[in-house]
Amino acid sequence: MALPYASEHVQFRESVRRFVDKEIAPHHARWEEEGVISREAWRRAGEAGLLLTNIPAEYGGGGADFLTSVIMIEEMMCHVFSGPGFRLHSDIVAPYILHLGTGEQKKRLLPAMARGEIITAIAMTEPGAGSDLQSIRTRARRDGDEFVISGQKTFITNGQLADVVIVACKTDPAAGAKGTSLILVEASRPGFSRGRNLEKIGMKAQDTSELFFDEVRVPVANLLGREGGGFGHLMSELPQERLLVGITAVTVMEAALRWTLDYTRDRKAFGRTIADFQNTRFKLAEVKTEVTVARTFLDDCILKHMRRELDVATAAMCKWWLSELECRVVDTCLQLFGGYGYMREYPIARAYEDARVHRIYAGSNEVMKEIVARSL
Ligand SMILES: Cc1cc2nc3c(=O)[nH]c(=O)nc-3n(C[C@H](O)[C@H](O)[C@H](O)COP(=O)(O)OP(=O)(O)OC[C@H]3O[C@@H](n4cnc5c(N)ncnc54)[C@H](O)[C@@H]3O)c2cc1C
Repeated sequence: MALPYASEHVQFRESVRRFVDKEIAPHHARWEEEGVISREAWRRAGEAGLLLTNIPAEYGGGGADFLTSVIMIEEMMCHVFSGPGFRLHSDIVAPYILHLGTGEQKKRLLPAMARGEIITAIAMTEPGAGSDLQSIRTRARRDGDEFVISGQKTFITNGQLADVVIVACKTDPAAGAKGTSLILVEASRPGFSRGRNLEKIGMKAQDTSELFFDEVRVPVANLLGREGGGFGHLMSELPQERLLVGITAVTVMEAALRWTLDYTRDRKAFGRTIADFQNTRFKLAEVKTEVTVARTFLDDCILKHMRRELDVATAAMCKWWLSELECRVVDTCLQLFGGYGYMREYPIARAYEDARVHRIYAGSNEVMKEIVARSL
């Protein structure tokens, strides 16, 4: 079944396209060199109504449905503009605050997030614990009406720019997963510091950082959700995060197919176009088939998600299968560009670099297969 796009979605897509042309495209190569995008771009995205699009209007969001998030990913990622961490801010962090936050937290944070004035991050991973989140060591100790947080996080998207971070901490280290809580930490708090902006093999314009917490004091009112409920909260929000990876993967595969068709029809060797060789036609036929199957599965997942029926195992299938297919498809397409495919001025080269992490983050593909296997 096709996604239920209405005229307001078509208009929204037009406005995202205008924004991308004016505010992202002219700057992205420079942001890749600098390893981070500008705060100004966040504010412009806020002014254009492109942040928190499916958060209710009473909290400053766009009050629209999940299709606006799909459109945002499609319009940015079809150009491989992976620098702006808007998706993490709007579609990962904001839902935690909307679903778990107190009235005060929602009013304080969501409108400013929608305006792009507050940039957010979520910090689960630590140097010693990624997949195995139960063994995180960042500790939040209760002291009167404050939590005192000590520990270290790594690989945190938006880490250099974030003003507020959702931090997964142990409030009761003896209680295992049941001792994990989520706590909002403002970057202005004494004891909070950022490490270096990590150098990555792809997504070069996106800032990814270590974060340090040295006896950071926050009021207990900064607890997000239930004390000890952090692990459960993470598990309930992760399916949407995994679906976002699937949407990105299919968007990139569809774009890669378009670029490769254009390129191979134009480029000549041995007196014919590259597209005339049977090998090229068969490769492109395979890619077209795979992308068509992928899109059908993805759209079904999106529809299920919009009906609140996307279960954890299906979201895991969506994440691992589409991200692995993406790497394979992008590699096949890159090969058809010859040496030009290895040059970063061609989007296929940047798509190749960026795709690799899709198999690692949002839960590694091995962990996704564990989740699927457990559901059998
Ligand atoms: C660019 C980037 C951005 C990121 N952004 C964020 C962010 O914003 N916030 C955040 O909290 N984290 C973020 N991460 C971290 C990411 O989620 C973790 O890297 C990921 O979950 C894997 O954890 P790890 O790196 O510790 O690998 P490990 O957990 O050490 O895994 C190493 C290998 O072992 C495999 N493995 C682990 N457990 C099992 C198992 N049970 N069965 C089979 N194989 C297993 C893994 O699949 C992997 O192949 C980001 C990472 C990157 C690279």
